[in-house]
Amino acid sequence: MAGRKGPLFIVSGPSGSGKSTALRRLLSQTNLPLKLAVSATTRPPRPGELDGVDYYFWSRDRFERELAKDSFLEWAEVFGNYYGTLRSEVEPAREQGQGVILEIDVNGARQVRQRCPDAVSIFLRAPSLETYKERLEARGTENEETIQRRLARIQTELQCASEYDYQVINDDLQATVDRLAEMVQQGFERRNHA
Ligand code: 5GP
Repeated sequence: MAGRKGPLFIVSGPSGSGKSTALRRLLSQTNLPLKLAVSATTRPPRPGELDGVDYYFWSRDRFERELAKDSFLEWAEVFGNYYGTLRSEVEPAREQGQGVILEIDVNGARQVRQRCPDAVSIFLRAPSLETYKERLEARGTENEETIQRRLARIQTELQCASEYDYQVINDDLQATVDRLAEMVQQGFERRNHA
């Protein structure tokens, strides 16, 4: 609806919870005006990842310069790399009534909840710890040491799940996408009735 700010959604979940796949499918299936904010990161691209599409792949120098300019809505250090949401990816779109999804970690989510109390937060989790391991290995883009580091972090992240408005167990991709679509639809409707 014209003149109304678009809703903001935070989606978190440990590596291997299937966030990226579910969100990609959600975006390809929805008719709502919805975008996924492209984050900036200092981690190197994985094979197939594109600058400006999957992330803005920046040097630490560049990232720190933007931090100094207060360009980020939130940021965090994850696995030794910086990750952050640029205000420019979020605010102009919301002003035009577009819904924006942030796919960010638990620390970033806390910052956004404080700054944007109207954000709807969703925690996506795999059905079991074993599933995370299988999914990380199947991805085949990380070495064993990285996989072990990511697995260790999963336990910590799972402890934050209760901070979120909703938790979704991703054991069936299409069912998860359907749940996410309902939540997004509700986010738009709440805004229209606000
Ligand atoms: P990956 O390296 O697997 O793409 O992402 C690692 C972690 O960083 C994931 O938990 C992902 O949600 C998180 N992440 C990605 N972009 C951002 C961001 O802009 N801010 C924060 N705080 N976390 C992010």
